[in-house]
Amino acid sequence: MEANPSVSSGRSGLTHAEPLIIERSAPGRCGHSLPASFGHPETASADIPSACLRSQPAALPEVDEMTVVRHFTRLSAWNHSIDSGMYPLGSCTMKYNPRINEALARLPSFSDLHPYLPASHCQGALQLMWELAQYLAEIAGFAEVTLAPAAGAHGEWTGMKMIRAYHRAQGNPRRRVLVPDTAHGTNPASSKLCGYNVVEIKSGPEGILQPEAVAQVMDDSVAAIMITNPNTLGLFESGIGDIADIVHAQGGLVYCDGANLNSMMGVARPGDMDIDVLQFNLHKTFATPHGGGGPGSGPVGVCAKLVPFLPIPRVAKKEGQYLLEEDHPQSIGRVKSFYGNFAVMLRAYAYIREMGGGGLKQASQMAVLAANYLRAKLEGHYHLPYPSRSLHEVIFSDQNLAETKVSTLDIAKRLLDHGFHPPTIYFPLVVHGALMIEPTETENIETLDEFAAALLAIEQEAQHNPDQVRAAPQRTVVGRLDEVKAAREPVLRWPTKD
Ligand SMILES: *Cc1c(COP(=O)(O)O)cnc(C)c1O
Repeated sequence: MEANPSVSSGRSGLTHAEPLIIERSAPGRCGHSLPASFGHPETASADIPSACLRSQPAALPEVDEMTVVRHFTRLSAWNHSIDSGMYPLGSCTMKYNPRINEALARLPSFSDLHPYLPASHCQGALQLMWELAQYLAEIAGFAEVTLAPAAGAHGEWTGMKMIRAYHRAQGNPRRRVLVPDTAHGTNPASSKLCGYNVVEIKSGPEGILQPEAVAQVMDDSVAAIMITNPNTLGLFESGIGDIADIVHAQGGLVYCDGANLNSMMGVARPGDMDIDVLQFNLHKTFATPHGGGGPGSGPVGVCAKLVPFLPIPRVAKKEGQYLLEEDHPQSIGRVKSFYGNFAVMLRAYAYIREMGGGGLKQASQMAVLAANYLRAKLEGHYHLPYPSRSLHEVIFSDQNLAETKVSTLDIAKRLLDHGFHPPTIYFPLVVHGALMIEPTETENIETLDEFAAALLAIEQEAQHNPDQVRAAPQRTVVGRLDEVKAAREPVLRWPTKD
């Protein structure tokens, strides 16, 4: 096997070095041409009070237009994106999202709508929201769906608020929420923000939650269990039916973190597993590019008994007309300005319509197949902490490389030399040195093979030349960074020459 980073997926050729733009500054150089009076202190001061005017010009870089264009274009080429290569970041579902959805989201008849328009003037947009909520309810098996939350964590918080409102309406909001040790960090955070104490439950040796462990801590002080299915180990929580029975028997509710729906849509419905509340991550499962911090969308589906508590405004359909309803006295109220992130809903709607039920099912099946294909290729070379079959993501660890002193971080850095974005590392926390790989359904078999070949080459290199792996990355624009220096010694201001 070839021990050197492969060229096919890696970088070769022109990668430009680029300093800070302030280092490109030369006194008097200028990239714009504006009328002489524009921004000049004498003409400007007629409109702007002198107290608000600078006495000295701002210490901005003085650069020509070409320098600005090249600076930002070069920096942008340093950035990894799904358009430049595979992005196997576990838990994040960094799949390729068809460009057609971007074109649709930019249609002026949607993008020019003002959120203050009366319902009678935006019937099309309301119809789209109403139908999307119906589709999502159908896909996951819920009575109703709110589209308002702006992301997955916001959806969790909205769901937990509804759970609290439900229990309060029964006379007691209760005190505790059960969260398994495999949970995403946002789960305990959302529970805490809704006023609950979090009780952690240990998952069993197979990586899934054992109903007996839930039964042991379940009592009538527990408002809900927050479970992720499939969980963050990429394993299906096969005890979900029994767990739901145990929680329901004590009057508790079952919340499911739906961020992993990409493994299940069209195949199984959380609502049919007796789950009461679930958030969708439209920016993961339903075709909105993400990774830059937003915008996202985290709709929440609820079972019938939670419908009165859904946020307002609600999109409703009466006598063929779509309207926005505010009059729901038990509602938890507004959770977002206006109606949520409409452009993300639009992409999700287009994606669902393009794919159809059969297409969504095939996407889930391909996502699961791709993860298991990688698992089969890497098994025996990398340590697999849990033996059961994976769903859409697979978790390895650095355990079998302990003697070489090559760690998960080194493997991740060496992957950069092979031209691949690393998988999620050191999460979930229950796996020491975790490498969490989610290839998604959108990578073809050649790419999966190249990725597996890169990981296998790194494993061989770790056995025979560990220092080489630990010195990675060597083919990137910047080498191994000091992981803590930026936090410990931040440079927030460029030293000015005065
Ligand atoms: C991504 C993710 C979240 C949080 O979603 P955001 O949209 O980033 O707020 C919660 N749980 C799991 C399992 C996730 O993968």
